Formats: sequence, C-alpha cells, structure tokens
Amino acid sequence: MVKKPFWDVEEELGFVKVKAWDAHYYKVWNQGTDESIQKVADILANVRRDINKLLQHIWEVQNVSNIQFEKKKIPWKEHPIAFGLYHTFDIHIPNGNPYGYNYQEMTPNKYGILGLNKPKVIITKQFQYNGKSIQYEIAEKRSMFLTIRPKLSDGGDPNKFDTYSHIMDLVLHELTHTTCNDVWWKKDNHLHPFHKYEGLVKQWAKECGII
Ligand SMILES: [Zn+2]
Repeated sequence: MVKKPFWDVEEELGFVKVKAWDAHYYKVWNQGTDESIQKVADILANVRRDINKLLQHIWEVQNVSNIQFEKKKIPWKEHPIAFGLYHTFDIHIPNGNPYGYNYQEMTPNKYGILGLNKPKVIITKQFQYNGKSIQYEIAEKRSMFLTIRPKLSDGGDPNKFDTYSHIMDLVLHELTHTTCNDVWWKKDNHLHPFHKYEGLVKQWAKECGII
C-alpha cells in the first residue's frame, strides 16, 4: 500500500457526524464539550449557506462588466476565469444532491495545514479546440476541510473558536482552489492566476454581503 502523503489527512477516524441547524450532517473532530461540537456543525452549515449565496451572486453577475482586465472592464464570462467558475458551480452547487459536496472540520495536524480543498474523483475529460483534441483532468467531487477551532492542532483548548470572518477568509481561499481546478498537490499551488482569482472571489463575496 502506498503511504499517504503528509497533507492527505485523516477524514473519518476521530470524527463524529453531527446534525446542524440546516438538517445536514457535518464531520466534527470529537473533542470539546457537546455544545462546542454542535457549534462547529452549525458554523459549517453557515459556511454552506454563504457559499451557496456567493455562487448565486456570481452566476447573476456573469453578464455584468465587473472584471478589470487589461485596463478595461469585461463580464467574467469573457474572461479566462469563466471555465473555472462554471466548474465551481458544477462542484459546489448541490443540484438536488445536498451531500455532493462535503464540508468538515480540519483534522488536527502538526504540519500547520489550516484548510484543504481535497479533490476526490479525478477524471480525464476531452474536448476539441481548433481541430485539436485536448485532454484535461478535473475532480468530480471535493471535500473542504476548515479550521474552526484554532487550538486543536497544538493540543490547546477545543472549546476556543476562530472568528467567523477569519473562517470565511479561509473558505474563500479554499473555494478558489476549485476555480483554479487544482487537482494535484503542488509545492506552490498559489502561482498566477491564483491570487487574482482569489481577489475576484473576495470582491464578489463583499458585494453579496457574506463578508
Ligand atoms: Zn491554498
């Protein structure tokens, strides 16, 4: 058996599935008071609600000239980000399957990993472009791991919570990895255009009032 790479953290062992206010179940690290464990699930439900709100907003502004690109404003559907955004809708919008996309608490770890957007089922797609056949890989499913209780990883108080605005910063960062179609672990997967795209995602998040 191939040894898991260090970033491929445990996602079952040590977790409990907890029903949140939105009636979905979320995986929460089983430490802290019952109240804290419930609060983590409820925060993850808030994250799901806010991401849905954000994606709805991005969908609605696709025809609006709101991307500054080479000194002119263009609608995002004419910008190279469009492929990544349509892909993000496919992956993150529930489409009748509320469990198609999974949010869970970050596994405590000693590597300083605060969040992870883990591709699950990687498939190769083929399309025709200028008479050529091009292959590219996408993940059909993803899981987002989020630090909600920052002290967990260093053995500290499991009843201490991060602020929601800090959590949302991490959420928007991780969501941008879907938009960039990052399917493999790279030493630096924050190269251009990652930060440009993250900036746009944050701009839209502000517009729709989730941050
Ligand atoms: Zn990242």
